[in-house]
Amino acid sequence: MSKNAYHHLKDLLGSDYYDAIEDRITYAYDGSGLKHLPDAVLMPRTVDHVSEILRTAGRYGVPVTPRGAGSGLTGGAVPPAGGLVLTMDHFNRIIQIDTENFLAVVEPAVVTADLHAAVENVGLFYPPDPASMYFSTIGGNIAEGAGGMRAVKYGTTRDWVMGLEVVLASGDVIHTGSKCIKDVVGYDLTRLFVGSEGTLGVITRAIVKLIPNPEAIKTLLAVFGSMDAASRAVPDIFQHGLTPRTLEFMDKRVIRAVNRVVDSGIASDAEAVLLIEVDGPCEAVEIGIEEVARVCRANQALEVLVARDEKERERLWKSRRSIHSALEALPFKWAEEDVSVPRSSVATMVAAIEDIGRKWDMEIACFGHFGDGNIHVNLSPRGDRDKAQRLYAARQELYENVSSLEGRIAAEHGIGLVKKEDVRWNIDEPTLNLMAGIKKLLDPAGILNPGKVFPNGMRDQ
Ligand SMILES: Cc1cc2nc3c(=O)[nH]c(=O)nc-3n(C[C@H](O)[C@H](O)[C@H](O)COP(=O)(O)OP(=O)(O)OC[C@H]3O[C@@H](n4cnc5c(N)ncnc54)[C@H](O)[C@@H]3O)c2cc1C
Repeated sequence: MSKNAYHHLKDLLGSDYYDAIEDRITYAYDGSGLKHLPDAVLMPRTVDHVSEILRTAGRYGVPVTPRGAGSGLTGGAVPPAGGLVLTMDHFNRIIQIDTENFLAVVEPAVVTADLHAAVENVGLFYPPDPASMYFSTIGGNIAEGAGGMRAVKYGTTRDWVMGLEVVLASGDVIHTGSKCIKDVVGYDLTRLFVGSEGTLGVITRAIVKLIPNPEAIKTLLAVFGSMDAASRAVPDIFQHGLTPRTLEFMDKRVIRAVNRVVDSGIASDAEAVLLIEVDGPCEAVEIGIEEVARVCRANQALEVLVARDEKERERLWKSRRSIHSALEALPFKWAEEDVSVPRSSVATMVAAIEDIGRKWDMEIACFGHFGDGNIHVNLSPRGDRDKAQRLYAARQELYENVSSLEGRIAAEHGIGLVKKEDVRWNIDEPTLNLMAGIKKLLDPAGILNPGKVFPNGMRDQ
């Protein structure tokens, strides 16, 4: 970074400018495990700070990587070209909870679960619930278009953002959307920024939609003798007119891994489980959960457990929440995939994943959000021979199968650094060129999170 840029930014930020090696190391990585040292870490306190940082970065050609909690799994918050990490920690206020219009105005560093707690306190509900919700931020969720367990009924973060304040690479501050449910004034720029992974602007404020907190929730765990039976139960549940708020699954390897770290209550010889939750008015929930249980039994569930109280419900969820740490505790180096297919193709996809595992001699552990067709596939090549080549081949074959089923290679974890060379599986050349053109228009000097989303060699690089 040039001396002039350094002096200007240091004067602007004072003690919120960090360039000691320990600070740079702390902000070099994210949940993907990838890392690259930034030249400095900036913690702006005001929108004016963010504007001036971006103007300065543009003038001197310094890359800027926005950062929330750094929990992203695709390297989005890693600065591969060094430069500045812009961490939004000081933007951590819930500015307004509007109980008349059912919306909240929040700053990006608000932790998702803190927003849940605050709105639930006044009888309202913000449904997006990535499994990282106790540490990931609303800004990171919006920038990634994060999903979560309740997406099956309520959609992803994308569906709950009504408006944004964004600082562009030019330093200009723009406002998209509004507090109105109906609003067709101008292009829908809100949707453009949701899922843009910090490449188009820095989000400094968001208006999010809320709904009344559901009156009741019931949780059920169904144990199956095969993955095939479990995956066939999924479309059947919906065919019966039921829309659970979560419909999660774990395969046998995940069940065994989880049982090593928590007392899940699931038999270790179970081949697959579905964790299903129904919410709504009390009476409808009682009927709904019984109906779900009946459909699971009709699809050869070996056992169906309905949680009788909050304690039992918490126990069922504990296994789901400990999956990441349970898999990490195994002696495998996992590559985590995040594919999605239309719900009716889940059983076909599961069978294809098993075939890929056999063909390329891989440990495979799968879990995820069956209800919305999102499967997290963890791959780890067995043995030492040609590991990198086999992993590459297995991933490509996975994407080929996903694409042939009209699925997506990334469902909720973004593209970042990890998947940028694979986006052509889903995006045709004219569409990719249009996206690169939008990036160029909003960020002509290419300072905002460079090296992400687009394959190497595209014209924004
Ligand atoms: C254990 C675990 C479980 C997870 N479970 C889920 C899950 O169920 N569903 C899911 O979708 N994801 C999940 N994730 C992934 C991750 O938590 C999400 O992608 C989350 O949205 C990232 O938020 P963050 O605050 O950590 O953002 P970061 O990782 O810091 O950043 C993510 C991206 O957002 C950009 N960004 C951050 N803040 C801003 C801003 N203010 N303006 C512009 N760009 C910004 C960054 O540049 C980066 O590209 C999980 C991760 C872990 C570690």
